[in-house]
Amino acid sequence: MPNEKTSIKSYTRRELHEIVTALGEPKYRADQLHRWLFSDRTADFDSMTNLGSNLRDKLSKRYFIPSCSIAKELHEPVSSRGSGTSKFLVKLHDGQAIETVLIPSADRNTVCVSSQVGCPLHCSFCATGYMGFTRSLLASEIVEQVSLVNDRISGQSGKDHVSNIVFMGMGEPLLNLPNVFEAIETLTHEGYRLAVSQRKITISTVGLVPQISEIARSGFTTKLAVSLHAADQEKRASLIPSARENTLESLRQALEQYVAITNEPVTLVYMLIEGINDTESDAKNLARFGHGFLCKINLIDYNSIVNMRFKPVKAQRRDCFIRTLVDAGLHVTVRKSYGTSINAACGQLAITEKNKVVS
Ligand code: SF4
Repeated sequence: MPNEKTSIKSYTRRELHEIVTALGEPKYRADQLHRWLFSDRTADFDSMTNLGSNLRDKLSKRYFIPSCSIAKELHEPVSSRGSGTSKFLVKLHDGQAIETVLIPSADRNTVCVSSQVGCPLHCSFCATGYMGFTRSLLASEIVEQVSLVNDRISGQSGKDHVSNIVFMGMGEPLLNLPNVFEAIETLTHEGYRLAVSQRKITISTVGLVPQISEIARSGFTTKLAVSLHAADQEKRASLIPSARENTLESLRQALEQYVAITNEPVTLVYMLIEGINDTESDAKNLARFGHGFLCKINLIDYNSIVNMRFKPVKAQRRDCFIRTLVDAGLHVTVRKSYGTSINAACGQLAITEKNKVVS
C-alpha cells in the first residue's frame, strides 16, 4: 500500500535514530542509513547492503525514498558579462518547484539554494515575495539542491565540485532555521560526498532579530549576510515589511551581539535601486549604521524584474555612493549582477513556470 508509506527523507538524523531503534536495531544503523540517503543518494532500500535484510525489509514496508529532479535549466553564456551562471528549476516530490543557481568562478563553484517554496515576507523588490508562500523546505530538499548541481558539474569535468553555498535563493532561511541547521550538518558532514566547509556557507537574511541571536549561539562557523537595502527605518520598512518589527535599532544590536559572540564580520548587503535608496544621504545613513562594528558592505545592482517598477542605478550614481562609504572608512565590495540574461533574480524562473501553469 504505497500511499501509506512516508518519505524517509523527511526525518532528521535524530529522528532516524528513533525510527531505527524502535525497529529493534542499534542506533549506528541510523547513521549508516543517513549516509546511504544523503552521501551515496541511494534510490532504494535494497541497495543498502550493510543494513541487513531484516531492517531493509522493515524500512521498505514503511517508507519510500523521494527524489528531486531538475525540470528546467537556463545557462548564461560565459561571454555575456562573464559569469556563466546557470539557473535550475528543481521539482520537489510533491510537484512544487524551487530555484537553485550555480555561480562558477575561477576559484569556486557557488550554489545559491532556496529555503522555502515562495516567501511570506513580501519584500517590495523581490519576485519571490510576489509569488506568495507555499511551504518551507525540508532539510533533505535543501541538501538535494546542492547534490543535483554537484552531480551536474562533476559530470562535466569529472573533478569539479560545489565549494561554496549561499542561502540566498527563494525564501527567508531564518523562517526555516531548524531545517537550515539540519541541512548544514549534512552538507558539511566530514566523509560525505559533499563535505563543504562550514566557513564556505553564507546564511542570508532580511534581518530577523531573534533568529540572528540563535545563529550566533548555534556554534556553526558559517557566515552571515544581512540584506539592509536602506539604513533609514521608514524607508527600510517600506521595502522590507518585516523591518517594522525588526527595527534598524534592534537589528544593529543583534548584529553587534553576533559579532561579539562569533568574532566574525557581518556582510551588509545593499541593493542600489534608482531613485529609492541611492542618494548621498542614503549613503551617509548606511555609513552611520556600519560604523563601529565588524562589518563589510556588499553593494549589488538591482536585477530588473518584469512588472516591477524598480530600476538599477547608473554607474555614476553608484560611484558617488561608493565614494561616500569609502571616505567614511567602510570596507566596500561591489558584486556583479549575475545571470541577468537568464532571469537570475530570485524567483523569476519559478514565477514564469507558475504563470504558464495558471494561464
Ligand atoms: S527578499 Fe528574501 S525575504 Fe524578502 S520576499 Fe524575497 S525571498 Fe522573501
